Amino acid sequence: MTVDAPLGREVLVDVKASGLCQSDLTASSLGGWPLPAILGHEISGVVAAVGPDVTDFKVGQHVVASLQSHCGNCAACASGDINMCTQPEVVSRTSEQPPRLSIDGTPVTAVANLGGFAEQALLHENNLVRIEQEVPHEIACILGCGVLAGAGAVLRATQVQERATVAIFGCGGLGLTAVQAALLAGSERVIAVDVAEDKLEMAVRFGATDTVNSTQTDPVAAIRELTGGGADHVFDFVGRPEVTKLAYDSVGRAGELGVVGINKPGATLEIGIGPDFIWNQVRIRPIFNGSTNFRRDIPYFAELYAQGRFKLDELVSRTISLDEVNDAYADMARHLGRTVVTFP
Ligand SMILES: [Zn+2]
Ligand SMILES: [Zn+2]
Repeated sequence: MTVDAPLGREVLVDVKASGLCQSDLTASSLGGWPLPAILGHEISGVVAAVGPDVTDFKVGQHVVASLQSHCGNCAACASGDINMCTQPEVVSRTSEQPPRLSIDGTPVTAVANLGGFAEQALLHENNLVRIEQEVPHEIACILGCGVLAGAGAVLRATQVQERATVAIFGCGGLGLTAVQAALLAGSERVIAVDVAEDKLEMAVRFGATDTVNSTQTDPVAAIRELTGGGADHVFDFVGRPEVTKLAYDSVGRAGELGVVGINKPGATLEIGIGPDFIWNQVRIRPIFNGSTNFRRDIPYFAELYAQGRFKLDELVSRTISLDEVNDAYADMARHLGRTVVTFP
């Protein structure tokens, strides 16, 4: 594969670690981009070269990438909500420019303008943030999506308050991060829900106060009992309509459901809108990438990790080489924690 020289505000990154994330599978099942294409959107690496207009990065700096493509100038960006940018296409090359990546003249798509499953990635500087060299690459990469999405859901999108009760459906990498974030926020009770006993055991190691195995126990009844009527905050990290419904039914009065897991196109949620709907005043909050600003939040979560207040080493349960990536995606649902591709 040929990687073009960086133009304008582009940065060439030597990829050192690249995390596997469920949304790669979701995205590839939807497709919609020209092939050949490179997935992988959790990148940590070292700046190898910069384009002539790059102002924020220098060769040799450690960086983490994010799929929060943004222009930096629109009203959303100006207010800090870069994940709601209205002109994210500015990070891409135009059709008049040569492709960033190609094989024998055929353009190669870097999905989400990232393309982390490769030795090098050529990115716009608006997709990058600097990170302290002390954070190992295999940890830094998961800050790019999984940690941002899990912790952001709790600390940014919904702002869980002290003494709140929290229930978390789905104890993969995002759910386990959310468990820790809920504790950081001072939650009184953090209830982990999953179908796999080993994932629930892991949730306890990350600080969950209670667990519910939903293959054995009705999670709605269990959460209502543990919280005295329903949790203040319920998060759905799974992305299946039946789970979203259970999560919704587990929310207490004036509480909130945060939906992070991405359901299939056309999926629907059926909820009663009788008198109880008004009386209970339950809110539903869809959350993209933790509703974070990655430039602000990745360095913050990295600092919490450096201070020992955020367990990320324990979250990365296996490192693999690039040629093992297909097998690792195939057994992702069964695997505990996060898998990361490392590069020499
Ligand atoms: Zn992701
Ligand atoms: Zn913008």
